[in-house]
Amino acid sequence: MTATIIDGKARALRLRETVAAGVAAFVAAHGRAPGLTVVLVGEDPASAVYVRSKGLATAAAGMVSGEHRLPVTTSEAELLALVAALNADATVDGILVQLPLPRHIDTDRVIAAIDPAKDVDGFHPVNAGRLATGLDALVPCTPSGCLMMIEEALGDISGREALVIGRSNIVGKPMAALLTARSATVTLAHSRTRDLAGHVARAEIVVAAVGIPDLVKGAWVRPGACVIDVGMNRVALADGKSKLVGDVEYAAASERAGWITPVPGGVGPMTIACLLANTLKAARMRAA
Ligand code: NAP
Repeated sequence: MTATIIDGKARALRLRETVAAGVAAFVAAHGRAPGLTVVLVGEDPASAVYVRSKGLATAAAGMVSGEHRLPVTTSEAELLALVAALNADATVDGILVQLPLPRHIDTDRVIAAIDPAKDVDGFHPVNAGRLATGLDALVPCTPSGCLMMIEEALGDISGREALVIGRSNIVGKPMAALLTARSATVTLAHSRTRDLAGHVARAEIVVAAVGIPDLVKGAWVRPGACVIDVGMNRVALADGKSKLVGDVEYAAASERAGWITPVPGGVGPMTIACLLANTLKAARMRAA
């Protein structure tokens, strides 16, 4: 079998168009556009690239894009004061503090300071708890995008065997919660898991979110499975250049899977599109 490649760029474009239409309707109803403000502390080049693309995507969707770039020397108290100001600003519907933060700042404290109603990353414990208990929530963007791609490939996933590899608060745990809410039978694997190969071989849905290139061998994949590769690993090439690869042995897995996401061009584009969708959702909730 040769897998159908799930085109994350094309899917994300469709979602962005849907969001833009929703934004236009929001403006017509409320006389203002939803606003997303991104806060970046420090000079991390990868984070700067993400922040720039988030800003451009926000504006392209017709929303108000705000940006605060703070020096790496910013104290935790200064950052918390900015978050408090954004919480109080009625024109701001979504607040995103770009991670990772410099080591002298307590990330959990900053996330907890964001108004849960404006927490478009879905990392606040209130939103994590709402998701875990089956209540409506602002859901983390990466697993949200993964679920959309899985459901588009497979339709109803009720009763399906799903394996999530990686248990971070950002990807793995919310992914497992979303799949559970859709009545899949979910296994959550991590660094202590024994016989990862055996778990992969049983899974009709595999979501790999680890950060280890080619961890999931193609030969392990159950024929016909839907494989979602969240991993983004930069590996050096012999000619001195580098390339991005996922956590799944892509070529070999493509020979067995029914559907597979490429890296790049799979999960990544969906993450930003889901951020825009979350911002519109936050604006609608606050306006209601
Ligand atoms: P993370 O916080 O470092 O978590 C990695 C997880 O992988 C941990 O739960 C860890 O287990 C588990 N793990 C480590 N070694 C393992 C092994 N040998 N077998 C099974 N599980 C193992 O990473 P993250 O933030 O979730 O990100 C994961 C990957 O996704 C990274 O490559 C990241 O760049 C990428 N990512 C991509 C997007 C996107 O938009 N495309 C968004 C977010 C993240 P323990 O808990 O036991 O340590």
